[in-house]
Amino acid sequence: MQRRDFLSATLASAAASASLPAAALAQTVSAPAANTISEAAREIPVVDTYDVIVCGAGPAGVAAAIEAGRTGAKTLLLEVHGCLGGVWTSGCLTWIIDNKNKKGLVAEIKDGLRLKKGAATVPTGSTFSFDVEQMKILLEELCLKANVTVRLFTRLVSAAQKDGRLTHIVTESKSGREAWGGKIFIDCTGDGDLAARAGCNFDYGDSAGQGQPMSMLCLISGVKYNEIKDFIRDEADSKVGSPSKKRLEEAIIKGGHKPSYARPSLHPIYDDLLMLMANHEYGYNGTNASQVTEATLKGRAEVHQIIHSLQSLGGPWENLRLMATGEQIGVRESRRIHGLYTVSRLDLIKGSRFEDAVCRVTFGVDVHSVKKEDETTTQYSRGTSSKPYDIPVRSLIAKDVQGLMMAGRCISGDFVAHSSYRVTGNAAYMGQAAGRVAALAAKKNLLPQHVNWSDVNWSVE
Ligand SMILES: Cc1cc2nc3c(=O)[nH]c(=O)nc-3n(C[C@H](O)[C@H](O)[C@H](O)COP(=O)(O)OP(=O)(O)OC[C@H]3O[C@@H](n4cnc5c(N)ncnc54)[C@H](O)[C@@H]3O)c2cc1C
Repeated sequence: MQRRDFLSATLASAAASASLPAAALAQTVSAPAANTISEAAREIPVVDTYDVIVCGAGPAGVAAAIEAGRTGAKTLLLEVHGCLGGVWTSGCLTWIIDNKNKKGLVAEIKDGLRLKKGAATVPTGSTFSFDVEQMKILLEELCLKANVTVRLFTRLVSAAQKDGRLTHIVTESKSGREAWGGKIFIDCTGDGDLAARAGCNFDYGDSAGQGQPMSMLCLISGVKYNEIKDFIRDEADSKVGSPSKKRLEEAIIKGGHKPSYARPSLHPIYDDLLMLMANHEYGYNGTNASQVTEATLKGRAEVHQIIHSLQSLGGPWENLRLMATGEQIGVRESRRIHGLYTVSRLDLIKGSRFEDAVCRVTFGVDVHSVKKEDETTTQYSRGTSSKPYDIPVRSLIAKDVQGLMMAGRCISGDFVAHSSYRVTGNAAYMGQAAGRVAALAAKKNLLPQHVNWSDVNWSVE
């Protein structure tokens, strides 16, 4: 490999100047000082160069990559977990909110799930409910068909830029440390990892810097829809204000455990397969690995306690089985990367419209209280009555680094607006738009903000 095919990354002080290892995987680390060790500077192989690189394969990332691929861009999709879908799959969230007014890929994914018999067979109202395993395989098929290069088990860890423009990302995986060159990058990590590593400014949490609680979700079986209908949040229940939640909380308490979330809910998929959300872990930061680990362990332990509580009631719960828990706990919010426009609470109140709209959000404000003690007293809407509003493409374009877009929950918005646009119908729809803009920008050698909006040919109606 020639020298220009290597990306030099300075990872350590000049003091650690041991000769470069022959094997790409080898790392040279100097003897520890008091609280740090020094890594030697080394050269990282550039695996390949792409038109569009998408980091994170949640609802936003898969949609972005599929659309970029379909628009003719050479596209790479990187994901740290072992499947595509993000919270939809590795998080066990089977519930697509704000999907009704979405055409494009959101509609296509719903149709694809119906064809695979992976769509809910019980009425769920305006929310689209699906089978996680069918979603996994469908997203893989769609990505491969769109000629997207998928790399699983690969974590984005660093970014390189020249004259303020992102040029490469660096990843870690079983294959060691690798670099990937790109023209346009899209951060769909949910947590804004790429933007943060590239040096972008961001906001986190409410005005006191506190984020909403995390939740460990799970799939259950061994029960029959008709026998536990009173405890299920189906279409009929949603229409009358979801009294099922109170009944479910009381049932779990009767079985011996008070759930950490005061409004637990059971979401139907099939007659004998449901998703359960009954856990809240407060005060943890989604960008801190130790905190996410602690929340995951606590959340999973509580899910088992809840299952035991319900099983102990006997009757329709007697054969209740826990089928799967999320690979990691569901993180509702983390970094909101500064963009060229910041979607605000005011946009929700006004019902803002933009010429460069990438998504029309119809879902309201849904803030899960940041403190346990406020859970039953604070309104989810935070006193904000929202109208359907648009997200402009400018809030998907990073302000501090060139050549970088965001899609999904890490776009530029304030605390209240985020709690509304973050749901997956919107994440996927804005992801698809970002993929198209990125592909056009790469094709024409432009920055995303310089792509002529009429060329994007995008509609939110
Ligand atoms: C508990 C909970 C309940 C929710 N309930 C609903 C609901 O009922 N309906 C609804 O529509 N929405 C719901 N949401 C919101 C919704 O799930 C998220 O806002 C949505 O998934 C955002 O999509 P995303 O693609 O931006 O992020 P994510 O789904 O979080 O996907 C991000 C992806 O990036 C990957 N990734 C992260 N960091 C890296 C890295 N450094 N390198 C490589 N890959 C990386 C992750 O593994 C993941 O696959 C809920 C969220 C939570 C947490």
